[in-house]
Amino acid sequence: MNLTDTHCHLDLDQFNNDREAVIQRARSAGLAHILVPSLTVASSRAVVHLTESNPVLYAAVGVHPNEAESWDGQTISALRELAARSLKVVAVGEIGLDYYWNKSPHEEQISILKEQLNLAAELELPVVIHSREKDDAETGACAEDLIKVLEDWVAGLQSGKETLAQRPGVLHSFSGSSETARRALELGFYIGVTGPITYKNAHQKRQVIGNLPLERLLIETDAPYLTPEPHRGERNEPAFVVHIADKIAEVTSRTPQEIAAATTENAALLFSWGESV
Ligand SMILES: [Zn+2]
Repeated sequence: MNLTDTHCHLDLDQFNNDREAVIQRARSAGLAHILVPSLTVASSRAVVHLTESNPVLYAAVGVHPNEAESWDGQTISALRELAARSLKVVAVGEIGLDYYWNKSPHEEQISILKEQLNLAAELELPVVIHSREKDDAETGACAEDLIKVLEDWVAGLQSGKETLAQRPGVLHSFSGSSETARRALELGFYIGVTGPITYKNAHQKRQVIGNLPLERLLIETDAPYLTPEPHRGERNEPAFVVHIADKIAEVTSRTPQEIAAATTENAALLFSWGESV
């Protein structure tokens, strides 16, 4: 099967002892492309360096909402410079809003998100979006704020940026409602599906994902986190995308081959990384 992992934190310490073996297992499992997102400017540098050294790896550069305190006057130019320097940079991310940890005030998170969306527009790169609600949120305040910002951004894209306006990015590890998914799809966003879809009690998540159009789905591990069944409890790794593909196949009544082919094609279209290596 031809599979892709569009969200894997391969630069983190959890992979220091066996990173090459992990990538080798991913290749043996049929993965030709792995996107490694960043969390800070420092990690963006490390991620670009890592992806330069391996043909299956690609990078997203950006500052995660939980790292907003690292933001300063030099951040945007540092990210811009990294994106310009390496052909391996195919996206800006992961960026977004996190109202679960609330490490910075919402206004600050929103302002940093907007600055990075503007950078993505300037560079004509799609965005990898993180969004996390407060556990007890009934209103979906995070999704609401996020979708509003994304709607304004897409509406404001200048002419000449049609490709970006058509495929502006992915909502990574989607855990929102059908209504949020509907609004994101309307904007042209893809929906990233992670390991929790395989968890026993994730009925609602399976229902939401099962009703989305296959041509808008991407498979992501978010490794080393969010390990899918039957490996739950272990460190996650990109070869495990196969278990997510199997579960999507089950809930959409398709074959794993169809899911693998479609999501791999979707990823290639969004991140423009061309044919397999
Ligand atoms: Zn992530």
